[in-house]
Amino acid sequence: MKILVFGGSGFIGSNFINYCFKNDNYIILNVDSLTYASSNNSILKNDNYNFIKGDICNQYLINKIIIDFKPDFIINFAAESHVDRSIDNPIKFIETNVLGVANLLNESLNYYRTLELSQKNKFKFLHISTDEVYGSLSFNENKFSETTPYNPSSPYSASKASSDHLVRAWNKTYNLPVLITNCSNNYGPFQFPEKLIPLMIIKCFHEQKLPIYGDGKNIRDWIYVEDHCSAILKVLKKGKVGETYNIGSNCEKSNLDIVNEICLIMDKFKPRKNGTKYKELVTFVKDRPGHDLRYAIDSSKIKEHVNWESSISFEEGIVETVQWYIDNVEWWSEKINSDYNLSRLGVDK
Ligand code: NAD
Repeated sequence: MKILVFGGSGFIGSNFINYCFKNDNYIILNVDSLTYASSNNSILKNDNYNFIKGDICNQYLINKIIIDFKPDFIINFAAESHVDRSIDNPIKFIETNVLGVANLLNESLNYYRTLELSQKNKFKFLHISTDEVYGSLSFNENKFSETTPYNPSSPYSASKASSDHLVRAWNKTYNLPVLITNCSNNYGPFQFPEKLIPLMIIKCFHEQKLPIYGDGKNIRDWIYVEDHCSAILKVLKKGKVGETYNIGSNCEKSNLDIVNEICLIMDKFKPRKNGTKYKELVTFVKDRPGHDLRYAIDSSKIKEHVNWESSISFEEGIVETVQWYIDNVEWWSEKINSDYNLSRLGVDK
C-alpha cells in the first residue's frame, strides 16, 4: 500500500508515519516544505520511507510528485497550525491552508482521472482537520457532532473550515473520493514547543513563569497523538467515502487543570532546585482575542462506523509526554534556539 503524506514532518504527521511503520508494511512518501514547526529527525529510519522537500502550493511539483509516485492513498496534514501566529500573519494561513489544499485537490483529481477502475475504487484522499472549525461551546452546550454548523473564530480555524468545504466540493462536483477527520487537541512527543503542553513542560524545565490566558477556565478536549494516528488509519481503511469523522477521547480539561497536572508530574520527576512547587510559577496573562471558551467532541459516529475508540487515558498520556520532553532536551532545545523565543506567549492551541 502506497501512501503519499503531505506535511509529514510536523507533530501529528511524523507520529502518524512512525505509527504506520510500527503497524504494517506501508510504502510512504512524505512531502513537506519544512517550516519552523517541522522536524527532520522525528521519523524513525525505514527502507520504505522517502522524503521530498516541497510546498503544497507549488502546482508543477505536486503534479509531478503524485503522477510519479502513483499513491493508493493521499493524506494531507500540511498546514499552518498555530492560532496565535494566524492572528499575527493571517495571509500565510490562507495561502497554505486554503490555496495549498485547493492545489492538492486539483492535482489529486488530475491523477485520479488517469487511474483504471480497480485503482479508482481503492483510491482515497484524506484531509486532516480540526474541531476548531465548529467554533466555541458554552459550558453546558452539547458536544460537537459532524452535523454541528461551522462557526470558526480565528484566521486559523477559518482557513481550516475553508479547506474542509473545498474538500467536500471536490467530492460533490468531481466525485473525488475524499474523507475528512476533525480531531480535538493533540498532545505527545515531537510537538513544537509553542503549543500549551510542551510549552508548559519546557517553561517548568527552565523554572520560568507559566503564563495562562485569561482565567485559565477555557476547556479543550485532549487526545494523545497515538490515538489520533490509530483513528486516521482506521478511517483510511474503513471510512465511507464522502464522510466526515470527528475524533476525540472524551477528555475535557481546562487549561488551568492541564498546567496543574504538568506541575504535579514535574514535582515528582524533576523537583525544583529551591524545594518549592512548580504550581507557584503559574501566572495569568491578558486573554487572546477571540479565545474560544470550550471545545468538546462527540465521537460516537467514528465508533459506530469504523469501530474506533481511543485507548490511552490522559493520566497515562501526559506522564509519557512529560517524560519524553525530559528525555529529549536536545530535540526541543534546538527548536527553541533556532526558531523560537521562549518569552513569546504561545499558551494555547
Ligand atoms: P504542525 O504545525 O506541527 O505541522 C504542519 C506541517 O506542515 C509541518 O511539518 C510544516 O512544515 C508542514 N507545512 C506547512 N506549510 C506547508 C506547505 N505550504 N507545504 C508543505 N508542507 C507544509 O501541525 P500538526 O499539529 O502536526 O497538525 C497537522 C494537521 O492536523 C493540521 O492540518 C492541523 O490543522 C490538524 N490538527 C492539529 C491538531 C493539534 O492539536 N495539533 C488537532 C486537530 C487537527
